[in-house]
Amino acid sequence: MAAPMDEMTNRDDDTSAEGYTDMPESIAVGNFVDAERQILAELETALSEHIALVLDWNRHLLVKEEETSDKKTPATTAPPHTHGAHTANKHDYCNFGAWYALNQHNRLMDQPAIKSLATTHQQLHAAARRLLEHFDHDGTVDAAEYDAMALRAESFFAQIRRLERAFRTARSDVDPLTGTYNRQTMLSDLEIERERATRTRSSAAIALVDLDFFKAVNDTHGHQNGDLVLQAIAGILQSHVRPFDKVYRYGGEEFLICLPNADMRQAAHVLERLRRVIEASPVTLRNGTPLPVTASIGAAPILHDKQIGQIIEKADRALYAAKESGRNRVRVWRSPDGADTAKKKL
Ligand code: GH3
Ligand code: MG
Ligand code: MG
Repeated sequence: MAAPMDEMTNRDDDTSAEGYTDMPESIAVGNFVDAERQILAELETALSEHIALVLDWNRHLLVKEEETSDKKTPATTAPPHTHGAHTANKHDYCNFGAWYALNQHNRLMDQPAIKSLATTHQQLHAAARRLLEHFDHDGTVDAAEYDAMALRAESFFAQIRRLERAFRTARSDVDPLTGTYNRQTMLSDLEIERERATRTRSSAAIALVDLDFFKAVNDTHGHQNGDLVLQAIAGILQSHVRPFDKVYRYGGEEFLICLPNADMRQAAHVLERLRRVIEASPVTLRNGTPLPVTASIGAAPILHDKQIGQIIEKADRALYAAKESGRNRVRVWRSPDGADTAKKKL
């Protein structure tokens, strides 16, 4: 929290938004999710493609098929074994290598785990080529070459699975404790909301909700009860905002609400209703005791000429004012020129 309310009304100091300017541009403009989705899809394809290839290589080594001149061999089945050169190349085709070559400089791809996957991929194909060429040459399977191929295949599959898990964990939109949207989702959503509000010339707002004296809840009733309180408040927030409002876990015991299509008067109305519901809904602790909980709320308009970090900073100042003036109340950031401001103090 940055400044008391009186300063807030007179200043429009936007230089204090560090921490948000470092956010990679692609996250800020919302491309991140699409790029990740594409990589995840490619990894899935690579996995199934290479499982099919390994089966194909094995079949080539195991199954002796008669060559039929009148039938074209389908691409997915192994051609008959011959001792001629280049037969192994027929079993070498995959899309992953080409896709990697094309996308390796993408910011999301430029990381050690993906580079290592690409290396394992090359080694897998090299091992398979050695094995198959040897076989095509003299009809024998070299055990060491086979094991090298199998080992690379195993490693390639395991790396893909690990990467997929890492991407999915990073991509998860939801905070596991409270079920609200997480902070990463919040930043790209707010950017989209700001663009939408600008395009449609509509008002929108955000609010920071901070539980009052929450540290004392942990200290007195234990961390598990603290978690229970967070879950209960998150439930209240999500069920009492308007259907198109979104709730995010901003930090430990702070939530951020995005209120599209709301000027500051409407936002203040929704938020005051929320504050009252929280005040009137004691949380039942693990031993059955009801615990009264209150929250302080600071709101700010989503202004098209302000960065998301700057808008959050304004809401934070309003929140500070709510805390300073006694907690359990809603305060709205006031712009210096009085534009889009709730006239009535709550
Ligand atoms: P104020 O009214 O000024 O907001 O006081 P406060 O005690 O709520 O604020 P403070 O920032 O001092 O304390 C926040 C506490 O939230 C401290 C931290 O231990 C707790 N906390 C943060 N994340 C979690 C969590 O996930 N679970 C639990 N149980 N506690 C958490
Ligand atoms: Mg706090
Ligand atoms: Mg607090």
